[in-house]
Amino acid sequence: MNQAALILIKPDGLKKSLTGNILTRLSETKLEIVAAKMVRVSKPLAEEHYRHLKDKPFFPEIIKYLQGELHDRKKVMALVYWGKDAIKKCRELAGATNPEEADPTSIRGSYGRITTGGIYENVIHVSSDEKDAEREIKLWFSPDEIIVDLYPAREVIEKEHKASAWAQ
Ligand code: UDP
Ligand code: MG
Repeated sequence: MNQAALILIKPDGLKKSLTGNILTRLSETKLEIVAAKMVRVSKPLAEEHYRHLKDKPFFPEIIKYLQGELHDRKKVMALVYWGKDAIKKCRELAGATNPEEADPTSIRGSYGRITTGGIYENVIHVSSDEKDAEREIKLWFSPDEIIVDLYPAREVIEKEHKASAWAQ
């Protein structure tokens, strides 16, 4: 069954110059990339993304982590992969949440670490199920940024919408 999965290359992945390695590993899945962009992560976006963990003691730290405050890289790369069993395939390649427990050949097993503060710096986020994927993709992308119709969208006419355009 065709599925979509949100992938984030987290700030530690960017700082360690792992973008190419991670995308190469993910290309083994033969899935299609249907959206991609660099994002400067606001606190509300990070908090909404990790809202299922808001009662955990490490919540404030993973918000800082996703915002890039622990790595002096205030950005993440966000992508949507699409195709047969996308979530399972991407999660398998990513490996377990805890990099020490992840298969050593997986992305997290190869490149992740546990910080002295106890946070799992695991270089990549992958949606955990279809419901989560839909919620996350709608949070990170607008319909126009995705080149296939993943979820029903409606047309809106934006009045007095402030945006930037090239000066010349
Ligand atoms: N995390 C952590 N310690 C934990 C659990 C989670 O540092 O005990 C961090 C880790 O970076 C993880 C993120 O919080 O990727 C989100 O946790 P989740 O349980 O959703 O794991 P994931 O879906 O990323 O494997
Ligand atoms: Mg998760």
